[in-house]
Parts: sequence; C-alpha cells; structure tokens
Amino acid sequence: SADVVPQAPEDPLFGLMAAYRKDSDPKKVDLGIGAYRDDNAKPWVLPVVKEAEELLRKDPDLNHEYLPIAGLADFTSASQKLILGKSSPAIAEKRVTSIQSVSGTGALHLGALFLARFYNPSTPDAKTIYVSTPTWANHNQLFSNVKLPMKGYPYFSKETKGLDFEGMVSTIESAPEGAIILLHACAHNPTGVDATQDQWKKIAQVMKQKRHFPFFDCAYQGFASGSLETDAWAINHFVEQGFELMIAQSYAKNFGLYGERAGCFHFVAAPSENAADEVSRVGSQLAILQRSEISNPPAYGARVASLVLNDEKLFAQWEEDLRTMSGRIKEMRKQLRSKLEQKKTPGTWNHITDQIGMFSFTGLTEQQVQTLREQYHVYMTKNGRISMAGLNTHNIDYFAESVDKVVRG
Ligand code: PMP
Repeated sequence: SADVVPQAPEDPLFGLMAAYRKDSDPKKVDLGIGAYRDDNAKPWVLPVVKEAEELLRKDPDLNHEYLPIAGLADFTSASQKLILGKSSPAIAEKRVTSIQSVSGTGALHLGALFLARFYNPSTPDAKTIYVSTPTWANHNQLFSNVKLPMKGYPYFSKETKGLDFEGMVSTIESAPEGAIILLHACAHNPTGVDATQDQWKKIAQVMKQKRHFPFFDCAYQGFASGSLETDAWAINHFVEQGFELMIAQSYAKNFGLYGERAGCFHFVAAPSENAADEVSRVGSQLAILQRSEISNPPAYGARVASLVLNDEKLFAQWEEDLRTMSGRIKEMRKQLRSKLEQKKTPGTWNHITDQIGMFSFTGLTEQQVQTLREQYHVYMTKNGRISMAGLNTHNIDYFAESVDKVVRG
C-alpha cells in the first residue's frame, strides 16, 4: 500500500514561488523565476512567435496527428544547423543524429538514459558523469534517476565570484579516462559564470588527452550574448576537435516557449569511416528509448520554432527578439553594478557584469538572502542566485538599496 511512500521534500524553487505569491507587500520583488520578464515584470511572448502562431492558425492542413517518434523532421534538421552551423562538416558528413525531445530536460534525460544503457568505457569507473559544483539542481535528480553515478568538478570561485578554472581542469584531468563530463554550453546556471574561449580550448585539450566524453547542456543559445554563433562557440570548438559528443538543446528560453516543451537531442559521431553507421545505430536505439518513454514528442512548440528556423525573414526577426531579451538583461546588469558601486556597498560588484545570461551569483550569504526576504520582500534562492530578468527599471533602485542595507548589516 501507499503507506510505504514517504513524503518528499518540496522543490525549493517552487516553495520560493509560493512564498512570493503569498506576500502582499506592493514592493515585493521576484528574483527566483527562471523565465524572462519584460520591463513590467510580465511574461513576454516573442513577436516572432506571435507571427509564427498566426501562420499556423491560418494553415488549413494543420491537424493534431502524432508526430513521428523522432519528431518533426524540419525541426530537427533546422536544430542541427542552428547548433552546429549551416555549413558544419559534421552535418555534411552525416555524423549527426537528432531526435526531438521534451524541451531541454527531456533531451538531458534521453541522453542520460542512453549513456546508462550503452556507455561502455574501458575503465569501468569512468562510467560516471561529472557535473559542475554547483550545477542546475535538476541535473542531480535527472542522472540519479537513471542510476548514472555522479561526481562534481569545482566550478565557482567564492573569492573571485568567477570561474575556478584550475580546480575545474585539474579534476577533469584526474578523472578516470573516458569519463562523461557535463558542460553548460553558455550562461551557466546557477552562477552566470562562463569559461573564456581560451579556457574552453584548454578544457577541450585536457578532455581529448583523457578521451573524456562531453555532454553539452545548451539551454540559452542566443539568449546569453545575443549572438547565436557566440553562444554555440564552445560546442563547435569541441566538434572541430573531432570529439564524439552529445547535446541537449532547449528552446524554452530563446523562443520563450517554456511550457510548449520544444527541444532536441543530438549525437555527433567522431570523424571516421564508420561514423554514418554509428549514427544510424545510435539513432535506432534513441528511437526505442523515446518510444517507451513518451512515444512521440509534443508538436506545437516544434512547429512554431520550425517555421521560424526555416524562414530567412522570420529568422532575422527572431535574432532581433533575442537581442531585445539579452540587451535588457545586460542593461540591468550594468545598472545594478553601477548603483551598488555608487552607494559604495561593501565588496566588489564587477562580477555582476562579468557574469552572463539569466542568472547572477551575487555572493550574498544565506543569512543576507533570508533578511532580504523577511524584511525587504525580495525573493531569491538561498545560494544568493538572482534571476536578472526579475529586475526592471521600476524595481532596480529598491533592490540596490535593499542589498546595500543588508550587506552593511
Ligand atoms: N539546463 C539548464 C542549465 C537550465 O537552466 C534549464 C532551464 N532551467 C534546462 C536545462 C532545461 O529547461 P527546459 O526543460 O525547460 O528546456
């Protein structure tokens, strides 16, 4: 009977959201949310998405039939080109197999399941996935669900509030040969700290020496820097270096299609005579896993994204929308840093603008986070992570003042 089922702890982020909703103070600020908000703190439907939806509505042939197991072919092929580049040799050489997924989470899960089932390194204890410390909290549950052993590699330096590059590289270097390394392609969640291109080159070099297997989580392409190419640079550097690798691609943030669950999983084979055959075998197994898990992926979000990705004019408009989102976030970073520096709030604040993407690791302590919540109605996760998208021209002064007071104690 269900007597044996223990009560699970509440998801901390959802608990935070509930507390925010209950707070009746008009000054309250929500910096927990992992979704883009416009300057009025409202969800933003991208204009290009509205246009694509309009086209879908007008399509007399549209129906609600199932998609194929691997998803919408126009969507998965456009997704390959988006992440690997239109003229990617990997695509031309047919070294890529792709399958539509339930957003980024579904792609990560499918990849995890595939690795748990088929990854077979020569050193058995290399069948371990290394994730950054800290990482997106869901990574931990996701990999433990498929019983893939997990270890951490250092990532965030508390001193510099930047990358602990030495720590990261030395742990990756000392991992057993052939280990799986999970890498955030850009806009690391939760820290907002990314490696520079030179640092990525070094990481790739070490991973190549150790024959490690890269698994890229790409949830913010175009959303971080505003440039789709820049945000996919690390992945493509690894592809150029001849790695066999996997990519989990999400369209939640960059299309604002959060609830539509549009995403894609890619497996890229290393250049070799057998690559096309490898890709065909991997694809066939992915299809079996997909069938047993979700049967076939959701259609609507993929249709919207596919229309945009496959049409030059809509694509250009999408890039404009991406610049609107990333631009607003960068502007909030600039303003927050300058307000704190003007107030001479104790500490250094350059990390606010050095970090990138949706989130910033402020360096605020758990105690300070609690005070901000209880006395100032400002809500953020207790590790001091703020969602930059929760800041806007109406609340940024109040937030900077609150941080200043709390830091001064
Ligand atoms: N990976 C990271 C690092 C993320 O931040 C997110 C979104 N919060 C995801 C994956 C996946 O999100 P989704 O399933 O909504 O695409």
